Amino acid sequence: MAQSRVWHPFTQHALEPSIPEIVLTEGAYLHKADGSRILDAISSWWVVTHGHRHPRIMKAIETTASNLDQIIFAGFTHEPAERLAEALVGLAPAGLDRVFYSDSGSTSIEVALKMALGYFRNIGAPRSRIVVMEHSYHGDTIGAMSVGARGVFNAAYEPLLFEVDTIPFPAAGREQETLDRFEALSRDRRAAALIVEPLVLGAGGMLMYPAWVLTELKRITEAAGTLLIADEVMTGWGRTGTMFACEQASVSPDILCTSKGLTGGTIPLAATIATDAIFQAHYSEDRKKTFFHSSSYTANPIACAAALANVEIWHDEPVADRIAALSERQAAGLRRFRDNPRFTDCRTTGTIAALDLRTGSAGYLAEIGPKLRAFFLERGLLVRPLGNVLYLLPPYCITGNELDGLYDAIEEAGERFG
Ligand code: PLP
Repeated sequence: MAQSRVWHPFTQHALEPSIPEIVLTEGAYLHKADGSRILDAISSWWVVTHGHRHPRIMKAIETTASNLDQIIFAGFTHEPAERLAEALVGLAPAGLDRVFYSDSGSTSIEVALKMALGYFRNIGAPRSRIVVMEHSYHGDTIGAMSVGARGVFNAAYEPLLFEVDTIPFPAAGREQETLDRFEALSRDRRAAALIVEPLVLGAGGMLMYPAWVLTELKRITEAAGTLLIADEVMTGWGRTGTMFACEQASVSPDILCTSKGLTGGTIPLAATIATDAIFQAHYSEDRKKTFFHSSSYTANPIACAAALANVEIWHDEPVADRIAALSERQAAGLRRFRDNPRFTDCRTTGTIAALDLRTGSAGYLAEIGPKLRAFFLERGLLVRPLGNVLYLLPPYCITGNELDGLYDAIEEAGERFG
């Protein structure tokens, strides 16, 4: 291909001069122009759930596009958005019943933060502090970076970020420290919201914590009148074994953010789902209480139709059984690494499996990351380690044999680099 003018995300072009071109996606595979194929073990950045190009979603996209393209969503509505909102309220934890659409995980977080502050302002008791969990990642826009861990991803933009209060990650055996810190922070009742990735912190290193911690965090938010924002952008749509991770903690957050798997991973769409109390705080004849947020493509009808088809797949196909089988395979697959001295912290939650390669250097910028990525790509496998953290987050259509091939490759990587 002629020299590209494209600037890729999270890519150091000086170190990645050649970027493979994909010409076809199908099931669990990406096909290259030269006819070879790559097993997508990370669901193309955690978005693809049923497999690439599920026919039912593709059909919904085609059918809708023959009638609707884009409609201004302020002052107008359309059937795909209405039906999808109804479906999402049915699927989300109890009490969440107003759906605000946007286009990416990051914007769903911005919307959630604005809703939380707007809520307190509109009820006449302004609060402005946001409490966040250590090692979190919520996206790359300014607000989402502000509530995420500070580090290499956002160091250059630090002056733009707002101050937050941080609770420690509830590492095994130290969960009480997290709860105590949050309890202490909650005493002055200045916290508008606690934002968390439920059960699994993704880009922070696939760090996992038990459901009871989330249950306790929710209890503390309730006592302090603080809102709980659940960032289910990565964990939603079955990744952790249940539709939403919050379910495992029997927690209904005040605001839930979803994107990625919302359209089965086909086209961009996000939703921030809030309680009626938050909606009612904005519902007023006073125009100053309006929720002042929009993006041009809010609730794109084609994207909403894709998401509706995704919901129908959940309804009509044995998706829950596939997830249960994949979760079991992942747990069994990781067992073989437990006694392997080249790895530590083998862990799974639902369909997500992760383990750390023992190396001299850890962290996102560890040299080992790109080397491992290249090692897997040479074997036709898309695995994109977070520094020395190897993880598999595959689409639910992946087969047992394909998973075994991935575990074999991870074992080989351990021998080569561990
Ligand atoms: N929140 C979480 C937990 C994520 O994992 C991500 C992306 O990986 C985001 C938010 C941001 O989503 P997007 O990349 O669609 O903006």
